[in-house]
Amino acid sequence: MTRKISKSRIINLITLLHIPPTTALSTSPNNTTMSSKLRPLKQILPQTPRHWVGDGFHVHPVFASKAFTEELSPFLMFDYAPPTYFEPGHPRGVGRHPHRGFETVTVAFQGEVEHQDSVGNSDVIKAGDVQWMTAGRGIIHQEYFSKTFAKAGGTLEMCQLWVNLPSKDKMVKPGYQPILERDIPSVELYATSQADDCASKSESVGKVRVIAGSFHGTKGPASTFSPVELWEVILPTPNNVVDLPFPEHYNCIVFVRRGKASIVGENTAHEVGPQSVALMEKKGGILRVRGDEDDSSLLVMGGLPLNEPIAARGPFVMNTWDEIAQASRDYQFGNFGS
Ligand code: MN
Repeated sequence: MTRKISKSRIINLITLLHIPPTTALSTSPNNTTMSSKLRPLKQILPQTPRHWVGDGFHVHPVFASKAFTEELSPFLMFDYAPPTYFEPGHPRGVGRHPHRGFETVTVAFQGEVEHQDSVGNSDVIKAGDVQWMTAGRGIIHQEYFSKTFAKAGGTLEMCQLWVNLPSKDKMVKPGYQPILERDIPSVELYATSQADDCASKSESVGKVRVIAGSFHGTKGPASTFSPVELWEVILPTPNNVVDLPFPEHYNCIVFVRRGKASIVGENTAHEVGPQSVALMEKKGGILRVRGDEDDSSLLVMGGLPLNEPIAARGPFVMNTWDEIAQASRDYQFGNFGS
């Protein structure tokens, strides 16, 4: 019997020998620096108390005090509305309001959200769909439950992420990308073979839905202004360890949407509870995770830090306070949203 040396065994050997990452075996799906070192955990952000956004979205402000800091760049903010049942009634949500200088990314997990904006986009996003809206120089929109969903009642679960725009793109024309469930590619996940076995890679233990960026060469449909990764990682059964190559010089954030998961290190495993966040150190090219409960689901996100000042007030995110004041004036005088 030929005993094949698994790639993870080679990687373990390389780690032991302290060979610099640049010479280590690595997979580089998108031509970015990728070492085979495990990415260490920096900090766990616990679940935060909920608050209402409009009368429709009862959200956890997931990033808590880290929101709008360079530490999460290019991500700015993250609201997560866990599964909540709504009786049949009027469409709940948030009325007309402006945005400038960034993008809002809405993911519907259950229920339906309807969007209408000042540049003429009108759309319903359903479970599994993603709406990637570029506010750019200015947009006015409203976000409500869809009429059909409101009338029937049901469970709503969604999230909204704010992704910053590089300074040079803050005043771009507003844009809108409706990304349907069927347009989001899914990549099978296989358990990481441990050093003491030669586990076959025959059985999938989960999948990655690639919304933005790329995973093992599969590209997500979202078009972004700076390098951004956004993946939904689904781990149906517990106790499988999976390796997720993640560009080393990107910020990396793991949100446990459902179930429980652990961030696995060389000799450690840190459990991350439901609706908590693991902020990862900016080193190591492999994010190693393990589902700890049935039907665990994570959002893995990150990107190249913009390294630009962040001035954020209400619905505007610019680089300077003068630009924020200008945004307020432009909105008040109606020079917005066309
Ligand atoms: Mn909005």
